[in-house]
Amino acid sequence: PPIAHTTTARTVRVEQPGGADQLRVVELPVGEPGPGQIRIRHTACGLNYIDVYQRSGLYPLPMPLSLGMEAAGVVEAVGEGVTHLKPGDRAAYASQPPGAYADARVMPATAVVRLPDDIDDETGAAMMLKGLTAQYLLKGTLPAGGLAAGDAVLFHAAAGGVGLIACQWARALGLQLIGTAGTDEKCRLALEHGASHAINYRREDFVARVKDITGGRGVKVVYDSVGADTYLRSLDCLQPFGLAVNFGNASGKVPPIDLGLLAAKGSLYATRPTLFTHIATRERTQAMADDLFAVVRSGQVRIPIAQRFALTEVADAHRALEARETTGCTVLLP
Ligand code: NDP
Repeated sequence: PPIAHTTTARTVRVEQPGGADQLRVVELPVGEPGPGQIRIRHTACGLNYIDVYQRSGLYPLPMPLSLGMEAAGVVEAVGEGVTHLKPGDRAAYASQPPGAYADARVMPATAVVRLPDDIDDETGAAMMLKGLTAQYLLKGTLPAGGLAAGDAVLFHAAAGGVGLIACQWARALGLQLIGTAGTDEKCRLALEHGASHAINYRREDFVARVKDITGGRGVKVVYDSVGADTYLRSLDCLQPFGLAVNFGNASGKVPPIDLGLLAAKGSLYATRPTLFTHIATRERTQAMADDLFAVVRSGQVRIPIAQRFALTEVADAHRALEARETTGCTVLLP
């Protein structure tokens, strides 16, 4: 089909930090890509918890702000120096700066990869940010000595977008992933997707349950994106020399901690990674995306799209995510 030439696009904007009612759909001009940039027309956009932090001001950004970090679509034009993409390519990305909640945009090409023919656009839009995160967490954020089949890890919010992908990927790696989730139904979902055990952390003491499940030993790694509500107790789930990975703040930021706590709890390691360090270069992005594509094409990881919203209903999508009403991945459709 002929390649479109988009000149304006509906874009979701925030004029000032605040609640979901701050989200506005506005029509903005879309120009030509400069050096190192592309223009892409989106067919589906991914919803991520980071969009909530940026909208609310937890992660302060200059306003007004175009929101959204993940999407799939068709490349319309490429700027000088872009050689890995051409007009007409189906592509997807997880990328800064935000601006993915839109019909189309001009953006840096670095983090944009071509989508394999057998991966559809909605899957591409749903999996890039969350799937690349699961990839770097399970394969690139490891305890001393690494992880081997049979090792136990704890993964909070296991029925969420990153969570259900991580459950399946951990199973494929032979890991024993103990998941937590906020309802019994979500616990069932985590188990269906490969968690070895699931703990309803609103009802049960997850530290006691983890100790019980691991015969008192604790886990090698805890992946904690819930933050304020769980982090200190997460440390109590670790073996000596275990690794505490805080990678999100769904319940609020982890308050500053005394490093002495890591000594007291068994010479622990603590890290606070972000995907954007991992995908800072095109080579790394492509290698991680190839790994994600392979595990999806093998059928070992299915991208669980459980909610779809029209782009214009973005505020409802944010409200659902913040109210813990969603499971798996959510896409916005332009
Ligand atoms: P999710 O679909 O996992 O949604 C967040 C989940 O967190 C909720 O569904 C809920 O599950 C749980 N939760 C616990 N406490 C709260 C609370 N007080 N308010 C809201 N939710 C709560 O989101 P994503 O898959 O988009 O992201 C998962 C996490 O990973 C997020 O914290 C995100 O910021 C982080 N992340 C970090 C990245 C990084 O590189 N650092 C990259 C990608 C994501 P339940 O009801 O089961 O508790």
